[in-house]
Formats: sequence, structure tokens, C-alpha cells
Amino acid sequence: MDVYDITIIGGGPTGLFGCFYAGLRGLKTKVIDVLPELGGQLTALYPEKYVYDVAGHPKILAKDLAKNLATQAAIFKPALCLGEKVQLIERIEHEGEMTWKVSSDKNENHLSKTVLLALGAGACVPKRLDLEVPAEWEDESIFYAVRSKERFRDKDVLIIGGGDSAVDWANEFSVLANKVTLIHRRDQFRAVQSSVEEMKRNKVNIKTFYELKDLHGNGQVNEAVIFDNRTGKEETLKVDALLINIGFVINLDFLRQWGLEMDKNAITVNEKMETNLPGVYSAGDIAAHAAKLKLIATGAAEAATAVNFAVTFINPQAKLYPGHSSNLNLSI
Ligand SMILES: Cc1cc2nc3c(=O)[nH]c(=O)nc-3n(C[C@H](O)[C@H](O)[C@H](O)COP(=O)(O)OP(=O)(O)OC[C@H]3O[C@@H](n4cnc5c(N)ncnc54)[C@H](O)[C@@H]3O)c2cc1C
Repeated sequence: MDVYDITIIGGGPTGLFGCFYAGLRGLKTKVIDVLPELGGQLTALYPEKYVYDVAGHPKILAKDLAKNLATQAAIFKPALCLGEKVQLIERIEHEGEMTWKVSSDKNENHLSKTVLLALGAGACVPKRLDLEVPAEWEDESIFYAVRSKERFRDKDVLIIGGGDSAVDWANEFSVLANKVTLIHRRDQFRAVQSSVEEMKRNKVNIKTFYELKDLHGNGQVNEAVIFDNRTGKEETLKVDALLINIGFVINLDFLRQWGLEMDKNAITVNEKMETNLPGVYSAGDIAAHAAKLKLIATGAAEAATAVNFAVTFINPQAKLYPGHSSNLNLSI
């Protein structure tokens, strides 16, 4: 079985930039992601939103940024394993060398000298509605993420949630949909204040202290019954599309079982992005350190740091500093 220099778990922006950097440093690289598509949160959660704070891109759609990152990551022809959930990493002896064995739900074993954990929020699954609804309504009139804004054009949209995703989509749909109602079980929003203020100015019917009670429909959702959680008063809304943004189910306990030192739901790293396990690095949203900012830009920087230190772990004589890429002559 091939032993890779580095196996990157997570094909989000951090893992993809790490993959590019590993190729640049001449490492034999593999990327594994549980999702069928690369891009992490960019493609899974907000493909059609613009991102404005990535170096060199004044404004770019998240899905285009993900595509560019994937193209850049592919330059050095890494091995890609998609739709595969990593369940365990173990240090084993292989042909006289200590090596990491990465095992997945596909009963695949991957061998690697080093590992970069770029798991983001983990293999997180959106929290689902606590209601029995016909399976065929899902992705037709009930959505947990927006993969195409056009699906909401001219519709009567009900958004559930009070975080950034819910409020941002309410703002976007206020100019696209026929009618937008946002219900939230409290009157405090987790979303940034400026977006909440914008939502109040926009054409959004905001109903705080309201929750979903039932859905009616025939082939698709036609009506939503909502209720005021202070008084129990019910109201029926005409609805063609429901967007549910009530958070994620995150279970990262398995990382502790791998022997990783954790800081709440994140992996503790030092300034070299080293975890407590030899040859195992972490970067991006999942990595915890004193100066943490969970951003695409900082994840990329952390990935570059992790990969360059992984180079020196594999070959202690190697230089840490990669040199300037502008000195290369890549035919791409
Ligand atoms: C609505 C929204 C808007 C945002 N806007 C911005 C913005 O404007 N600017 C900005 O800088 N940031 C923004 N962010 C945050 C940004 O998306 C994250 O900081 C970034 O995606 C983190 O990248 P990552 O690669 O570390 O993790 P992720 O993007 O979460 O990728 C992690 C990958 O690891 C995979 N994975 C996890 N566990 C496993 C496993 N066990 N086996 C295999 N694969 C696994 C996941 O499937 C996922 O693909 C936004 C986030 C959201 C939700």
C-alpha cells in the first residue's frame, strides 16, 4: 500500500490550500472528505453568497472561490477521496517506520507519514425539523442549505432561525422572493447586528418568539402553521419554500478518542500548527490557539504553516521556508 507524505482530512478552503502547498513542497498528498464535493462550508452552506475578505478577490461567489481553490489544489495531482468519512487515525509500525493509518467508513486504510486535520466544524449535519414530513418535500420545498437562489424566486418563503445564515438569506430573498417571513424562537439574534438592522429595513416579515408547529401540503409545502411560544396563539402562513437554518449537530467526541488534546470543540495546536500527536497538524476552523480567527484567510495561512512544518517533520534536514513561488515556472 502506498504511503503518502501527507494526508489532509477535510477538503474545505483550509484543506484545499494545504493540499496546494503540500504539492508545492513536493509532498505526495492525499485529500479525504466525507462530502461528495470539494469546498467545505463554501459549497455546502453558502455557495451563492459573495465573500469579500479573501486576499486578491474584492468580491467572489463562495462557489467560485471553492472552484478556484480546487483547481489550485489539483495542480500537483493529489489523490482525492470524496464521500469518505474518516473514523480513526492510529500510529502503527509499517515496514519499520512509524506511520499514520487513517481509516474511513468505506473500510479504506490510508497510510501517511503526516496528517493535516482540516475538519472545519467536523462532519456536521444541519439540525433537522422536529416534524414528520414526506421525504419528497425535501430539496423541493424544504431546504437546509441554499444551493441555488433561483429556487426561491417569486416564492412565499419561510425562514426559520436567528443566526447569520437565516438573517443573511432573509436579506437576499427580500428582493428575489414574493414574500419572506422569518421566524425565530427568541427576540435576540445570533446574527451580526448590522445584518439584523438591514433585515428590519428590508421587506421581511420578522416574527420573534414564533416557532413552527405544522406543515400542510400536497406534493409540496403549501402552508405553515406557526405559534407564538409565549401565548400559544397560532397563525397559518401560505408558504412554497422553507429554509431551515437552526444550526448543526456537531459531534467531535471521536477526536478525543484519537488521543488529541482538545479545547472545547477544537483541536489544540501550537504556533507550528502541531497537535499533541507526532506528525499530526491541524488548521482552519477546527484548530484552537490563542490568536484564533475562524476565517478563510487565516485558515489558508495556518494550512501553509502546518504543511511547511510537516515537511521538516518528514525530513528534518529540509528547509522550513518554502521560498517564493514566483521563482517557479509552473506550466498551468
Ligand atoms: C454562512 C457563512 C458565511 C461565511 N462567510 C465568510 C466570509 O465571508 N469570510 C470568511 O473568511 N469566512 C466566512 N465563513 C466562514 C468560513 O466558511 C470558514 O471559516 C471556512 O469554511 C473554514 O474552512 P475549513 O476548511 O477550516 O473548514 P470547512 O469549510 O468546514 O471544511 C471542512 C471539511 O472537512 C470535512 N470533514 C469534516 N470531518 C470529516 C471527516 N471525519 N472525514 C472526512 N471529511 C471530514 C467536511 O465535510 C468539510 O468539507 C462563513 C461561514 C458561513 C457558515
